Amino acid sequence: MTIRLFNTMSRKIEEFVPITPGQVGFYSCGPTVYHYTHLGNLRTMIHNDILKRMFLENGYDMHHVMNITDVGHLTNDDDDSGEDKMEKGAARDHKSVWDVAQFYLDQFLRDYDDLNMIHPTEMPRATDYIHEQIELVRQLEALGYTYEIPGDGIYYDTSKFPAYGALTGGALSGNRAGARVEFNSAKRHPTDFALWKFSPADQKRQMEWDSPWGVGFPGWHAECSAMSMKLLGDHFDIHTGGEDLSRVHHANEIAQSEPIVGAPWVKYWVHFSFLVDKSGEKMSKSKGEFLGLDAVRNRGFDPIVYRYLILLGHYQAQLAFSWESMDAAAAGYKNLVRRVADILAEKEQGAQDPAVFDAWHDRILDAVSDNMKTAEALVITQELLKAPDVTAATKIALIEFIDRLLGLQFIDRARKLITLENVAAPDDIVDMARRRAAAKAARDFATADALRGQIDAAGWSILDTADGFKIVKKA
Ligand code: AMP
Ligand code: ZN
Repeated sequence: MTIRLFNTMSRKIEEFVPITPGQVGFYSCGPTVYHYTHLGNLRTMIHNDILKRMFLENGYDMHHVMNITDVGHLTNDDDDSGEDKMEKGAARDHKSVWDVAQFYLDQFLRDYDDLNMIHPTEMPRATDYIHEQIELVRQLEALGYTYEIPGDGIYYDTSKFPAYGALTGGALSGNRAGARVEFNSAKRHPTDFALWKFSPADQKRQMEWDSPWGVGFPGWHAECSAMSMKLLGDHFDIHTGGEDLSRVHHANEIAQSEPIVGAPWVKYWVHFSFLVDKSGEKMSKSKGEFLGLDAVRNRGFDPIVYRYLILLGHYQAQLAFSWESMDAAAAGYKNLVRRVADILAEKEQGAQDPAVFDAWHDRILDAVSDNMKTAEALVITQELLKAPDVTAATKIALIEFIDRLLGLQFIDRARKLITLENVAAPDDIVDMARRRAAAKAARDFATADALRGQIDAAGWSILDTADGFKIVKKA
C-alpha cells in the first residue's frame, strides 16, 4: 500500500520510498528527563507510535531509536545560555542529576505503557554516548566548521553551511537572524550553536567529562546527530519531533550531520503540531505548570482515552486540550467499547469472510497510510461496527487489526466490560437496587436517588433496562 507523509523539508506530502526495501530507519526526539512528561510531549509520542504501527501493518521492519536527553539541554535553547535543565531539576527535587534522570524516565515509561505505545528498538541516553558526541565535534572541527569562544565552549559556525535552516525556509534569512535582538554576542552569527560547553571555572558540575577542548558537556543538538548515525547508519528514512524542533534543534542536527555524511542525511522530516490550551498557548515544561497523564488518571479517566482524543485530530493541526474534550472523547470511546463488547458476546458469530475482511482492512489501512488520517480510520471503524452485512467473526478479526494499527485496546476493554457485567452483585446491593426500583415506582424519587448514591459509592452502577434494572460493577 502507498504510504504518504508530509515532509517538512519539501513542504509537500510525499510518497514514502524506503532507502532499503522493506525497512524503515526511524529516529524520534525523545524526552528531556528533568521533569514530568506533559500531555503535549505525549501527544508527539502518540503520533510517533501511530507512524510506527502504520509501517508495521504495511509489512515493514521498523528500527526505531528514541533518545533520552539527560544532559546538555539548557533553559534557553535558542541561545545556548541559561542553566542545564537537568541540574536545575536536581536542585528543585533535592536529588542528584542521575537520580532525577532515572526518576522522570521511570515516570515517562509508565505513561508510555499506559498509552499503549510500542517500545523503541533502542532508547539511548545522551550520557551513554559522550564519546560519540566528542567524535562528532572532532570531525566537524577537522572539517573547519567550528570555533572556540574562550571560557564558553566550542561553537558551530553556521555561515560555513550554506543550506542552514532549509527545513524552515532556508539559509539565515528570515530564520533566527534578526528574530532575536539579543544573542550571545561572542557568537559570530546568531544561529551559531554550542557543540561543547565548558564547565564553569568556579563550579563543579555533576555531569561533566574530559574532552580535547577541556572539561565540559555536550551541546544538546550533538546527541541526536551522534546517536542516530551510530545506531541507524549514516543515512536513514524518517526523523520526527514536535513542531518546535524544526527551527533550531533539527536545523542544527542537519548542520552537524550533512558535512560528515553528505546530503540528504535524512529522507523524510515529520513534525507534529502542538497540544495547546484553550487560549492557544503551547503546553510546556519550562512554564512550570502543565498537565501530565496523572491529571488524566486523577480525574478518573482511563489513560487510553487520551490516546483516543489525540487520534481524533490530525498531526498537522494544533489541538486545544480541555476537560470537556476529554469528557466527549471518553463518551465516544465508551460507545465503541460497548459495541465491541456486544459483538464479542453475540451468540451467532458466523464465519469469517476473507473478501469482506480485505475490503474493510484496506479502507482503514489506506486512511492511516494516507498521511496518518487516524480520525478517518475511526469513522470507518464506527461504520464497520454498525454494518449489518458483516459477520461478528469478520468484525472481530477486523477489530483485532484495528487494535494493532491504532493501539486503542478495544478488545481488551470490551472483555473487561463483559467481565464486569457478569460479576454478580452481593445481596445487600441487590436489596438496595430492589428498594430503589420500588421507590421509583412509588414516585419517591428522593429515596430512589439516595439509594442510587449509596450503590454508586459501594462501587456498583444501576442501569435501567426495558424489563427492570441491571447492576454492573464499576470499572
Ligand atoms: P522535551 O521533553 O521538551 O525535550 O520534548 C519532547 C518532545 O515533545 C519533543 O519532540 C517536543 O517537540 C515535543 N513537545 C514539546 N511540547 C509539546 C507540545 N505542547 N505539544 C506537542 N509536542 C510537544
Ligand atoms: Zn533530537
